[in-house]
Amino acid sequence: MTEKTYQVTTPEETKRLAEKIALLLRPNDCLTLSGDLGAGKTTFTKGLGIGLGVKRTINSPTFTIVKVYQGEKTLYHIDAYRLEDEEEDIGFDDYFYGDGVAVVEWPQYIASFLPDERLDITINKVDDSDRRVITLTSTSDYFDYVIKEIPHI
Ligand code: ADP
Ligand code: MG
Repeated sequence: MTEKTYQVTTPEETKRLAEKIALLLRPNDCLTLSGDLGAGKTTFTKGLGIGLGVKRTINSPTFTIVKVYQGEKTLYHIDAYRLEDEEEDIGFDDYFYGDGVAVVEWPQYIASFLPDERLDITINKVDDSDRRVITLTSTSDYFDYVIKEIPHI
């Protein structure tokens, strides 16, 4: 298990880090994004979209749990916030074992459906500023490798 921490100071920097990570991803990969409301999970996902060649604007999926974006690679953007305490299976296997990169906001609400191999990302605010501490944690050899390959942002 590898862990790596980044300190960023702007939303653009968060997106840039996400974009660099996206370039290393394969279809089928699963990333989780943890952090409070407003931490920057959706901002990070926008950067992933850029790296995956998604042209549409990525927004918070407020009323839908899953949004599918076609890019050079497919992106499944899952926001499990509304599934709090439900443990409802809405066919997650299609996303986690499909042919796209899956990114999950609020993964704790669908913990039992998540694949074992993941890149877990936590975003924490620092004070009341634009600074964020972004921690990447791998749960597999493959994501250990991905973390090592991320170029400097
Ligand atoms: P979440 O999805 O975690 O609720 P969002 O990405 O929707 O959060 O919102 C994060 C907000 O914080 C955005 O308005 C974004 O511009 C702002 N922000 C300020 N600094 C940063 C940063 N360093 N990284 C990400 N977002 C930031
Ligand atoms: Mg969000």
